[in-house]
Amino acid sequence: MADITTDVLVVGSGPAGSATAALLASCVVEVLVINRYRWLANTPRAHITNQRTMEVLRDLGPEVESEAMKHATHQELMGNNVFCESLTGEELGRMQSWGTAPASKARHQLASPCEMNDLPQTFMEPILFGTACRRGAQSRMSTEYLSHVQDDEGVTTTCRDRLTGKDFTVRSKYLVGADGGNSLVAEHLGLPFEGRMGVGGSMNILFRADLSKYVAHRPSVLSPAPMSAASAWASCVWSDPGTNG
Ligand SMILES: Cc1cc2nc3c(=O)[nH]c(=O)nc-3n(C[C@H](O)[C@H](O)[C@H](O)COP(=O)(O)OP(=O)(O)OC[C@H]3O[C@@H](n4cnc5c(N)ncnc54)[C@H](O)[C@@H]3O)c2cc1C
Repeated sequence: MADITTDVLVVGSGPAGSATAALLASCVVEVLVINRYRWLANTPRAHITNQRTMEVLRDLGPEVESEAMKHATHQELMGNNVFCESLTGEELGRMQSWGTAPASKARHQLASPCEMNDLPQTFMEPILFGTACRRGAQSRMSTEYLSHVQDDEGVTTTCRDRLTGKDFTVRSKYLVGADGGNSLVAEHLGLPFEGRMGVGGSMNILFRADLSKYVAHRPSVLSPAPMSAASAWASCVWSDPGTNG
């Protein structure tokens, strides 16, 4: 007999797991979402949010879409991609991007009533996770997926409560592996990942500063430069000083 029973166990409360939990809870499906860590993403990761994603948020309800738009940098402020020697250095070129070029903007407007935007994952996750929990999803943080066994009727999953160190089992009809690119659920299922790993390295440096005087004349969501990571994020900080990046 398992310790906990639910219809769906979702491993991971990132964008995929939280969205799954929010959509299931909206359809009154019993769902439990777990996350190995004590809280949601605490550093900026995904941020360019496309129209299809915004359609999912609209499906969740107009209040969910408008909450996202409240925190997002809107499309008309997303500017260009600027290629430069450094954030303050010579500009090598700029590319109208993210649907800001007239022809591309028309395609965007014809494609969907929803607007793409720039919403850092640090803001998106609480919106999705909060929606899931408000609509009835159960959640357990500091709870790690360890293994699962599938049979004809469902799945028994073993998890570890990282606060007590104790293991417990969850019985569910379905198990969703939303545990990211290094998914242990997928590994245990023997699901192969296509593509070559480790094709390039990058470093992210997160800092908070008002960089307006360096970039106001060339607004950009991304400013790729030879030492690109710091300047790319710096540009994001500039575009919305109220965010983490
Ligand atoms: C610096 C950076 C910049 C990025 N920029 C972009 C971008 O601009 N646009 C874009 O589309 N994408 C971007 N990405 C990628 C984006 O962050 C990921 O594609 C996205 O987070 C994947 O979402 P996910 O929900 O599938 O997985 P994740 O966000 O990785 O979430 C996985 C979840 O599973 C949990 N978990 C993992 N293992 C276990 C376990 N054993 N037990 C319990 N819980 C577990 C984690 O704690 C987490 O909650 C960026 C990533 C990084 C790092």
